[in-house]
This record gives sequence, C-alpha cells and structure tokens, in this order.
Amino acid sequence: MKDYSVTTAVCPGSFDPVTRGHLDIIERAAEVFPRVVVGVLENPSKKPLFSLEERVELIRAAVKHLPNVEVDYFSGLLIDFVRKVEGNLIIKGLRAISDFEIEFQMAMNNKRMAPEIETMFMMTKNEYSFLSSSMVKEIVRFGGDVKDLVTPEVEQALRRKYFA
Ligand code: ADP
Repeated sequence: MKDYSVTTAVCPGSFDPVTRGHLDIIERAAEVFPRVVVGVLENPSKKPLFSLEERVELIRAAVKHLPNVEVDYFSGLLIDFVRKVEGNLIIKGLRAISDFEIEFQMAMNNKRMAPEIETMFMMTKNEYSFLSSSMVKEIVRFGGDVKDLVTPEVEQALRRKYFA
C-alpha cells in the first residue's frame, strides 16, 4: 500500500499586501491539508510597497486563527523553498483565464525541476475574482473603500503608506 504521509502545502506569492482573495485560498487549503506554509516572495525587482517584514506580519495577523498555517519568506526558486520547508505541494489561486497562461508555465517549469512536487489550483471565490493587490493599492491611493477586500490591519497599513 502506498504511503500517503503527505502533506505540507505551500501557498506562494508576493502578497503586497495580502487580500481576502489570498486569505480565502489559504483558509481553504488549511481545511484540506494538515500543514500550510505561506511563502512570501522577496523579489526586490518588483519594488513592493510593503517591506518583506511588513508583508509577513500582515499575513501572520490575518491567519492567527488558523493553527496549521505558518508564514515564512523566500527569495530565489519556489521549489527550493518548498523543499526547505519539507513541502510536497504548491497551491495557487486562479482568478481568471488570464492567470492561466503564466501559472501553466510556472507549474511546468517547477515540475521539470522538481518532479516530486505537485502544483494544484483552487478557483477563486466569485466575489474575489476581480481582486488583486495592485487593484487594492490603486483604490486606497485614490480614496476608495476596500473594507470588503482586505483585513482592517491591511487597510490601516495602506492608509499609513499613502497618507501618513
Ligand atoms: P497578485 O497577483 O495579487 O499580486 P500574488 O503574486 O501575491 O498576487 O499571488 C499569490 C497567489 O495568490 C497566486 O496564486 C494568485 O493567483 C493568487 N491570488 C491572488 N489574488 C487572488 C484572488 N483574488 N483570488 C484567488 N487567488 C488569488
């Protein structure tokens, strides 16, 4: 009989900042898998609004009710991070067909480099299908309301960035 002693699922992303769309995927992954590690990508070439530490802290605050979720960060290849945390699965959220092309490329390349690691996709919740970190930043910057889209901590942090 095969040993199914899996599994740690890794939810990677830049989370600049984390949105309710991300959190929906993380929460659902935490329902299905015994251990979920959120991997925050450092990626300095993307010039994030929030520092790595700020992004990690905002996610930690948002997932503190989920005992099987950890938050860590990485730079470089995702597969190296997955191996480091002894993960065997990458979970990604899909919003629209437009996400598919790039996610497909990444999944293929990761599979080529790390055949032991699977990538699985979860469809976004309908109400978050239009939601991205960059949209949230634009809305706050121009004075709009994002209460339904992010946690109160993230909303406050965004206001501080733009208006403090
Ligand atoms: P973004 O594309 O908003 O900058 P990230 O790079 O942080 O997001 O994405 C991390 C992961 O979260 C990706 O798999 C992405 O598809 C997923 N994701 C982002 N926003 C949503 C959403 N609204 N619903 C479901 N998944 C999402």
